[in-house]
Amino acid sequence: MNKNSSNKMAMAPNTSKKRETVCIFGTGDFGRALGHKMIQSGYPVVFGSRSTQTSSLIPKHAEVLSHAEAAQKAAIIIIAIQRQHYNFLMPLAEILHGKVLVDVSNNSKINEYPESNAEYLAQLVPGAKVVKAFNTVSAWALQSGTLDANRQVFVCGDDTEAKQMVMDIVRALGLTPLDQGSLLAAQEIENYPLQLFPMWKFPILLSLGLITFFFFYCLIRDVIYPYVYEKKDVSFFIAISIPNRICPILALILLALVYLPGVLAAIIQLYRGTKYHRFPDWLDKWMLCRKQLGLVALAFASLHVLYTLVIPIRSFVRWRISSRTISLALNNQTEPLNTTNAWLSDSYLALGILGFFLFVLLGITSLPSVSNNVNWREFKFVQSKLGYLTLVLCTAHTLVYGGNRFLSPSSYRWYLPNAYMLSLIVPCIVLVVKFVLIFPCLDKPLTRIRQGWERNPQYSE
Ligand code: NAP
Repeated sequence: MNKNSSNKMAMAPNTSKKRETVCIFGTGDFGRALGHKMIQSGYPVVFGSRSTQTSSLIPKHAEVLSHAEAAQKAAIIIIAIQRQHYNFLMPLAEILHGKVLVDVSNNSKINEYPESNAEYLAQLVPGAKVVKAFNTVSAWALQSGTLDANRQVFVCGDDTEAKQMVMDIVRALGLTPLDQGSLLAAQEIENYPLQLFPMWKFPILLSLGLITFFFFYCLIRDVIYPYVYEKKDVSFFIAISIPNRICPILALILLALVYLPGVLAAIIQLYRGTKYHRFPDWLDKWMLCRKQLGLVALAFASLHVLYTLVIPIRSFVRWRISSRTISLALNNQTEPLNTTNAWLSDSYLALGILGFFLFVLLGITSLPSVSNNVNWREFKFVQSKLGYLTLVLCTAHTLVYGGNRFLSPSSYRWYLPNAYMLSLIVPCIVLVVKFVLIFPCLDKPLTRIRQGWERNPQYSE
């Protein structure tokens, strides 16, 4: 759905003009809420209903008439009725001839019917000009005035003049019309309110899967193993230590997964020698949710920062430091500064701080309000070059954290390596392949392919 349509700028309604009467069929929740809003915006409203008796729920100053009578009073008729009742419009076809019918309906399932409700309406009343609009706005938001989160109203229709009339009403109500083209777009507009975070599903499910895996992995290694072999109860690790292990692991893996599809796409393009052949569906879908993957990764990185900040005030940590100090004092020992360890520790922290800073910068530039203000080259520079730099810094942060423990047998428990070692697999693969891809012998043909050159034209569609 193109939210950046050219007419996105809601223009101030021309209040000096006398507003035309608008007819609304249906005095249900949506019809009443829309009628109320229209009356507030200065439109005379007439309701077409099966019952012409008014009730206290009907907005003041609105007339309630039979469908036929109400339709004759207005050029625009809003059909605030469920699709399954549209049949009642057929006998009114003559009265509705030449009128603008606004279909506001939604379905309960995605692609519930073979054709959109608006196209169905156009088939039932062929002489009318059908426009799809308002279905993404809720009755509650209209009534309560809490439209701040979603002022956008997708509009589509085959008759340009009719569409313009509806868009004028949308603007007059203080909303933003987004022209989506012909009535063919109606199905997509009807599916839109039924989608539940479509781009977030994969990143969230993947994160949940990884959290579960690493939680049990760390539980076995860090809590159950010491209990079995040393009779040590460190179950309190579940509160902070284990989450502080899982968060950076997830942040790093998810960040690497943002860049892995790009690397795979490059390999596929090099192999095929063309960019004019579609990627497999799974790769397309993966590429589309890279921003969401990155934002989830940033959320885990931020949690890691918070968990790390509380380390000095943890009772276990304070106990460990004081008991070590006391033990040294009792044994009349001192511990000379190990400059190698000091270097490792400071480098590890410095890499983490810089990596997190760039991570936040990436997150900020992905916000629409920021990305809309940079040109394509700037956006690509930040998301690609700075993105890879972030991945390099975060991977280095984890490598330095491992230090010289990678090969130490004590870091393996029940043959299981430390969890952070597993987190390095995907980022290292991505960085190594990316490094290979920047070699001129591969980079040059890849750049040419991306500029439209084809080595094997039989692959193009
Ligand atoms: P509703 O409260 O159930 O009202 C529907 C109205 O349709 C009834 O009040 C009735 O009005 C009329 N009606 C019912 N059966 C009919 C029949 N057999 N023949 C003719 N008219 C009949 O539903 P609603 O929530 O207002 O929704 C109306 C439409 O707006 C639906 O298509 C819905 O998808 C769409 N919509 C609703 C919302 C929302 O937040 N509610 C948001 C966006 C879009 P009379 O008694 O006056 O005849």
